Amino acid sequence: MALMTGEQYLESIRKLNMNIYMFGEKIKNAESSPILRPSLNSVKATYDLAQMPEYEDIMTATGLNGEKINRFTHIHRSQEDLIKKVKMQRLCGKKTGACFQRCVGFDAFNAVYSTTFEIDDKYGTHYHENFRKYMELVQGRDYTVDGAMTDGKGDRSLSPSKQPDPDSYLHVVERRPDGVVVRGAKVHQTGITNSHEVLVMPTCAMKPEDKDYAISFAVPTDSKGITIIVGRQSCDTRKLEGSSIDTGNPKFGGMEALVVFDNVFVPNDRIFLNGETEFATMLVERFSGYHRQSYGGCKVGVGDVLIGAAALAADYNGVPKASHIKDKLIEMVHLNETLYACGIACSAEGSKTKSGNYLIDLMLANVCKQNVTRFPYDIARLAQDIAGGLVVTAPSEKDLKDEKLGAYIEKYFCGAAGVKTEDRIKIMRLIENLTLGTAAVGYLTESLHGAGSPQAQRIMISRQSHMDEKKKLAKAIVDIKD
Ligand code: SF4
Ligand code: FE
Repeated sequence: MALMTGEQYLESIRKLNMNIYMFGEKIKNAESSPILRPSLNSVKATYDLAQMPEYEDIMTATGLNGEKINRFTHIHRSQEDLIKKVKMQRLCGKKTGACFQRCVGFDAFNAVYSTTFEIDDKYGTHYHENFRKYMELVQGRDYTVDGAMTDGKGDRSLSPSKQPDPDSYLHVVERRPDGVVVRGAKVHQTGITNSHEVLVMPTCAMKPEDKDYAISFAVPTDSKGITIIVGRQSCDTRKLEGSSIDTGNPKFGGMEALVVFDNVFVPNDRIFLNGETEFATMLVERFSGYHRQSYGGCKVGVGDVLIGAAALAADYNGVPKASHIKDKLIEMVHLNETLYACGIACSAEGSKTKSGNYLIDLMLANVCKQNVTRFPYDIARLAQDIAGGLVVTAPSEKDLKDEKLGAYIEKYFCGAAGVKTEDRIKIMRLIENLTLGTAAVGYLTESLHGAGSPQAQRIMISRQSHMDEKKKLAKAIVDIKD
């Protein structure tokens, strides 16, 4: 079953026995929680869309064994694959207006695939063979995998092995003939409750003394010793109130969590890096490069939804023809398409790695993400500007549905002729959701910090700027001799 239907996906997640906590209580699974269910729906959309003939070319690919697979489990074989990835992410963003979570594992697959090949090349290890077999399993079962990189990090001025608490970074605590035991945690884990497996990678460059911290592996999300503590999102408990309007996006959402690994056993064939500290940097740079490309797709799709919502707000407010409104909408589209252009550009300029898969152009991927740290905020500001204060002052759905109060709300919050007040409020709530509510986690703050905070991209941009070359160009033009 290389391609699961959405229903089969739900069934497969139901079978897992994850250790999930939220508000101090253990919850059975994401499906049983009104707060998490929309995030499960978003991942389900990546399965549903792959079943639709009109999206087949974008949503599916050919796997390592020649079978048809979901593109979210694909190892890129060309620049065209990299471009299709961005198009797929834009599509999923458009259909959900939320974070659909499956890209983190996807980006980890491609980073680990090429890095393991190069480690084996140098040390004669068997990580690539392990990982290839693992990918055959992931592709064959159409798994969703949580790519786990970020550690708690403790004191940022100290390296992993120098931390007062050795668990501040996930590390090996025991080496056994059949595998290793690890302890630590991964933070900000997107989509973990909706994933079959977790693929762990180191989070930063390592020195030789950090050997136990240079570890990459994959285990099922319901492995013994894993505890998932769900993170709060702004306005999350609105989903418990039984109102679909007030949530802004009643169908889809995202989720993040702290994932604790308390003495988790990893068998040898699931280990993809184990002590080769100098390769931690390659893995981190490649993973974050792919993930910086990802944002040139997903944020653009969500941006499409927000721009559409802002345009509808203008229609419902009766001002679609005002020149400043039209200009603001143009600006929003311009910013959004600039992000897309960066996502496509770093893909088109991608190149083959030694392992044979394709890597994005790292400079352009970092430029893409640097723009992503800014433009969604500008787009969100313009959306709120166009929509007006009702985004933050609209009464609840309960009041709207109340016989007496509802009449007042209808009377005073009506907009352009022919527009239902309820529809006007729905659009305001969607804008609220994307710019202040649960979806702002993915659309705004994650745009800033996800796949590395702004400074991380500036370091990469600086490293690849070839400044000496540029100086030589200037000297040549005006005949400066060294
Ligand atoms: Fe994918 Fe975007 Fe969510 Fe990251 S924020 S997992 S790239 S949808
Ligand atoms: Fe992310």
